Amino acid sequence: MLSQNIIKELTNIVGKDNNILTSKEDLICYSYDATNQKFLPDAVVFPKDAQEISLILKMANFEGFPVVPRGAGSGFSGGSLPVNGGVVISLERMNKILKIDADNLTAVVEPGIVTGDLQAEVEKLGLFYPPDPTSLKFSTIGGNVAENAGGPRAVKYGVTRDYVLGLEVVLPTGEIINTGTETMKGVVGYDLTKLMVGSEGTLGIVTKIILKLIPLPEAVKTMLAVFVDMRDAAETVSKIICSRIIPSTLEFIDRNCIKCVEDYLQIGLPLNVSIRGLPKDADAILLIEVDGDKDLIEKESATIQRICLDNGAKEFRLAKDKKEVKELWKARRAISPSLKKLNPDKINEDIVVPRNKIPDAITGVQDIAKKYELTIANFGHAGDGNIHVNIMIDKSNKDELARAEKAVKEIFKLTIELGGTISGEHGIGISKMPYISMELSPAAIDAMKKIKNVLDPKGILNPGKIFYTERHNEADQGATKARSEAYV
Ligand SMILES: Cc1cc2nc3c(=O)[nH]c(=O)nc-3n(C[C@H](O)[C@H](O)[C@H](O)COP(=O)(O)OP(=O)(O)OC[C@H]3O[C@@H](n4cnc5c(N)ncnc54)[C@H](O)[C@@H]3O)c2cc1C
Repeated sequence: MLSQNIIKELTNIVGKDNNILTSKEDLICYSYDATNQKFLPDAVVFPKDAQEISLILKMANFEGFPVVPRGAGSGFSGGSLPVNGGVVISLERMNKILKIDADNLTAVVEPGIVTGDLQAEVEKLGLFYPPDPTSLKFSTIGGNVAENAGGPRAVKYGVTRDYVLGLEVVLPTGEIINTGTETMKGVVGYDLTKLMVGSEGTLGIVTKIILKLIPLPEAVKTMLAVFVDMRDAAETVSKIICSRIIPSTLEFIDRNCIKCVEDYLQIGLPLNVSIRGLPKDADAILLIEVDGDKDLIEKESATIQRICLDNGAKEFRLAKDKKEVKELWKARRAISPSLKKLNPDKINEDIVVPRNKIPDAITGVQDIAKKYELTIANFGHAGDGNIHVNIMIDKSNKDELARAEKAVKEIFKLTIELGGTISGEHGIGISKMPYISMELSPAAIDAMKKIKNVLDPKGILNPGKIFYTERHNEADQGATKARSEAYV
């Protein structure tokens, strides 16, 4: 619990009363993310700039309360959850585009801007910010930077990290630093920008971001290939890449997802290209996009069509106009929420394997689903080997939950054996904390803890995330549990 004095001090820092929330009804709105786990903060503040955040962090060090940065709260690993209470810093008010430099192909933005809004603005100028987490309509650039978010276009364009040139960051102890440059090159000192990107809000609070932009591709073509054998679809992914075409998107969607999204989107999708009206025996589909020079993508889409049909596709559909493209993407973005039709709770893993191991990974996951009698739905950014494995359960069924937990461990073991990684984009947060030692050596984890301890000696910034620390002792865990239970 924060004392009344601390609340008063916080109010002095952020100004008017509506820049701070303390009532339970308000706090509940900031107590959960997409993991659906809930931890009540003691206060939520809405600072307007780095200086205010700096003052809050200095005060937190002095008083010893935790501070947790939050974007839109769409994270899938619990990163924005105040597991030990304290103050949530919402970056909502810091949502401006400060500069778009069309000559030098850069933009400077505040962290709270919604990714899709930034993309729409730069596209008006013929520019392109490619990272496109499927949550782009609501997640923020700050959250994307903290999680190093990726998306369907990562197969061709890379992830958030590849577009961050520099940052303004408030360190856990309150100092404000600038990392990187506004130039395309810059190697002065350690690369703190790369250290901060993907640090899940544990090493600093990002208050400004310098982004690299590229020219908007001239044209895009969107296609759908329907397979009656999941393995054929998975094998086609690497066959397309081996033909030396790098699609801007290469998404895999399995039978369970197809069914859910068909039921979920009852309205308005045209039958000729939508994922409605698919053959009854459709086992998997690939959603493929190529972009660039108009003539080149004509040729590329013809080659992709041939590869798909040669490799067992039963149907191949080409979106004929922008409206159809939009509807296909609407269907793709609806997969995640639609899965709730299978079961109320979702354990969502985002494993990555080398592209040519996708068929083995998906077959392996299906075997694990059978072994533990679970419903698992797979979809994802197969072009870069990233598969979202969704174990659909009812958490109130303790037996099912226990089987799901065993399945998760086996899926991670399989992933690592195939040369992959247990998280491609969602981060560790609290969800994957128990598993990181399956992938990282004790020395690597120790090096990370040392970095954390140097930057945040009092452990006030986003504590209880990524790895267990000395502070994460029994007392802390007890407090965390109590806070979660106090929610209801
Ligand atoms: C339907 C759906 C689809 C999704 N699809 C994708 C996808 O395709 N690819 C993908 O990568 N992710 C995806 N996600 C996950 C999520 O949207 C991303 O992780 C996103 O980057 C989180 O952004 P946010 O603004 O919601 O951040 P939050 O969830 O609020 O926070 C995420 C983490 O970032 C930290 N943080 C937030 N802002 C700052 C800041 N300014 N400075 C420092 N730390 C900060 C938080 O402390 C937390 O640790 C999806 C989520 C949903 C619900």
